[in-house]
Amino acid sequence: MGRRIVFVLAALLLLGLAGAAAWRLTQQPGPAPLYASGNLLVNPGFQEDADGDRRPDGWEAGPAAELSDWTILPEPGGHSLRLTGSASYVRSAPVFVWPGKRYTLSLQALADAPTPARLQVAFLWEDTRREVCARATSDWMPVPSRRWRSLSFQAVAPPDAVGMTVLLRPAGDDPVYLDDLRLSESGVRLEPFPDYGQAALAFTVDWETAMGGLIHSRSDDGYNPATAEARGEAMRQGTENLLSLFARYGIRGTWFAAGYALLPGNPSGDDFGHPLYAWASQANGWRDDHWLTTPWFADDPHGTSESHPAWYFGDLVPRLLAAHQEIASHTFGHLYLGLASPEELRADLQRWNAVARAAGVPSARSLAFPWGASLGMPDASYDVLEALGYLAVTRTYHEPRGRSQYWILPPDDLFHLRTVPGHPNLWAFPDHYFPGRPEDLPGAKAVVDRVLLLRGVTSLWAHSEEVASPEQVAAWEELLAYSAERRSSGLWIAPLTEIVRYRNALCQVEMETRERPGYLELRVRNVSRETLSGLTLTFPAPVRRATLQGASYSDFRQDQLRLPELPAGASARLKVWLEGWEAEP
Ligand SMILES: [Zn+2]
Repeated sequence: MGRRIVFVLAALLLLGLAGAAAWRLTQQPGPAPLYASGNLLVNPGFQEDADGDRRPDGWEAGPAAELSDWTILPEPGGHSLRLTGSASYVRSAPVFVWPGKRYTLSLQALADAPTPARLQVAFLWEDTRREVCARATSDWMPVPSRRWRSLSFQAVAPPDAVGMTVLLRPAGDDPVYLDDLRLSESGVRLEPFPDYGQAALAFTVDWETAMGGLIHSRSDDGYNPATAEARGEAMRQGTENLLSLFARYGIRGTWFAAGYALLPGNPSGDDFGHPLYAWASQANGWRDDHWLTTPWFADDPHGTSESHPAWYFGDLVPRLLAAHQEIASHTFGHLYLGLASPEELRADLQRWNAVARAAGVPSARSLAFPWGASLGMPDASYDVLEALGYLAVTRTYHEPRGRSQYWILPPDDLFHLRTVPGHPNLWAFPDHYFPGRPEDLPGAKAVVDRVLLLRGVTSLWAHSEEVASPEQVAAWEELLAYSAERRSSGLWIAPLTEIVRYRNALCQVEMETRERPGYLELRVRNVSRETLSGLTLTFPAPVRRATLQGASYSDFRQDQLRLPELPAGASARLKVWLEGWEAEP
């Protein structure tokens, strides 16, 4: 809905453009059109090929789409991309787009053949589900024989588009070379990430005591209270370790708590409704049928976190809150949501909220599926999540060799948000498991590199018991240090729900831009119900000077400017002077 507001405004602006001679876009002849600087494409000159497979990183390369050492760019080690054959193609990583904005792709192309070839460009507009909702296709553009030629194509993003990929393909089977691609957005760009960020990463923890997935284990241990208690102790130890690591690197994580873990104890012997879950059976993957006749919370020792520290983590909650960590939901009773009924889910999540409230924790807005068991979720259970105010789910089922009919996020794209089918307001948040073994470290670092390369969104996670041994602590420390260092390259590290809330609120920002002689005048208004902190704008040239509500303002770097905190309903009025933009007569 918010995007529509923005679109209407943008459309008004475009109409305004048609009539107002003051707008640079309409000046003929005159200076170049107003386009935000920077290139929205990832790896636009095909330089990056970290794994050396001769396919450009960040691009989906179709058949016979391969790197060539032939390049028109001056960079040493540069590449171009060769498409050989009319079924060959290359497709960019997704780009965040704004409805009503104009996007222009320019590139260099050459046909390595005695006769010319042709090339087609398509902008594939995507909805929140990352499905193509519209496309804009160029004519077949002539590519000269053995001579580089500049080509360009432009189109306006339609109302429902939130993303876009660029697709390029040749006509005929002769090799066509591509290089030096550039995708720009008209006007001033409102960046998808705050604080000069390029990508978002959440560190998340599945946080449960002996009562969570431990006593209800589906693994080889089966029902084993002694093992569950020992692992509950490791969960507690891991919490201490992770809290001090997070503090060292200034990281706020998201702790997906089984709600029972938030209890300070249960000396009064609450049985939480005495639930029996008939689905927790051997037929459904448990080791025995223990839970068919035993109430789910029967092992509760009815003690306190002092007498039974492996069972209740209520004493740790104030410390998490004091460290500004997010506490979110892993359900109250660690339910298998692909098997539980919508009614069981509703009762369980309401209990989570009640226990959280008693512990001073806000109602949950995000959920991590216990056992990664989103497979089998009824549509009505997603309705329950939405009705209770959930904005995001994670630990969705995405086993690469699993049953693909249950994938909400495909395993080959765990770097972008997508909404749950039929639930356009519920985001599925991608995740990568890092169990803290030294041998998993290169893979986890590669996740950090890749989310930055793709300018995407993802998370790394573990159970807190996987940060217990000195070896695990060392591995986690190395990963956190590596990630924290990448903040200077634009990595935004934040709690999972904060990333989702920012994404939602961003689409309810209105921006009006007016070109005045020698400077730009902007009004940015936050019409969402969230406070927006760190909103970042990209201008067509480096910022020389700025004022905010009439006073001098200096939070800018090169061609970008960061706004101060913008509470719900607030506006910022900016004047911005750009390098090379002298006052016109
Ligand atoms: Zn769990």
